[in-house]
Amino acid sequence: MSVRDKVSVVTGAASGIGKEIAIEFAKGGAKVVIADLNLDGAEAAAKELRDGGGRAMAVAMDVTSEEQVNAGIDKAASEFGGIDVLVSNAGIQHIAAVDELEYSWWKKMLAIHLDGAFLTTKACLKHMYSQGRGGSVIYMGSVHSKEASVLKAPYVTAKHGLEGLCRVVAKEGAQHKVRANLICPGFVRTPLVDKQIPEQARDLGISEEEVVKNVMLKNTVDGEFTTVQDVAQCAVFLAGFETNALTGQSLIVSHGWFME
Ligand code: NAD
Repeated sequence: MSVRDKVSVVTGAASGIGKEIAIEFAKGGAKVVIADLNLDGAEAAAKELRDGGGRAMAVAMDVTSEEQVNAGIDKAASEFGGIDVLVSNAGIQHIAAVDELEYSWWKKMLAIHLDGAFLTTKACLKHMYSQGRGGSVIYMGSVHSKEASVLKAPYVTAKHGLEGLCRVVAKEGAQHKVRANLICPGFVRTPLVDKQIPEQARDLGISEEEVVKNVMLKNTVDGEFTTVQDVAQCAVFLAGFETNALTGQSLIVSHGWFME
């Protein structure tokens, strides 16, 4: 069970959870493709990995653009020799109550999280199926793939949707030895979370400390944030697991917030 030599595409890997997954995969000997909207950030992350002795390349990719996704995945496959792992991770957050949520934000959120997951999956499956050496698709869900919170309708909707896509890909991919699984993190201190703390404080009329303690970490077993390293280790485990015994499943990494 290892990611050694596996060509691994991580979307949204210029920052946060995706970047740490890229670091952990490179440490494990994978050839890492850092695909991000932010090309400067992707190139900086790829350079960091190469400077540390890893193999990594950056590709500019808006996951909502079919053209950019296909071009980026094909470029990665031709430079690194196929595609073995997709970590569909790119994502954003937007805080608003349903009665005030702008339709444009609803569409943007669903496009990044769901269209992005579909387009990158389709582009990678083409290579995985034709190569005949199996593969692993990992979706970045959330505890919000399992339960709801106020102010996060499109995020919760999209993260629930990823569970459905994951299960279908697990069933369709099985005959090609392509597995699909969902990682469901609790709150992790990344730019995505740091941005929403003051926004939630404003909308809920409470302090930022109360948002952290009474909203984000309230239902954990120990009041602790999940870390980027926690999530990255789960991704390495799922990517390196070689058989269909582990497919179509969710791995909740959340300090006990939501137990299935
Ligand atoms: P982050 O803001 O640190 O990183 C997100 C990355 O995605 C950025 O590099 C950004 O440039 C990239 N990105 C955004 N839109 C994109 C697009 N259209 N195309 C390509 N790249 C794009 O956020 P993060 O916290 O690391 O989040 C990563 C994933 O983890 C997201 O899917 C998020 O929903 C999920 N998640 C995060 C948490 C958390 O608490 N941070 C918890 C559960 C799930």
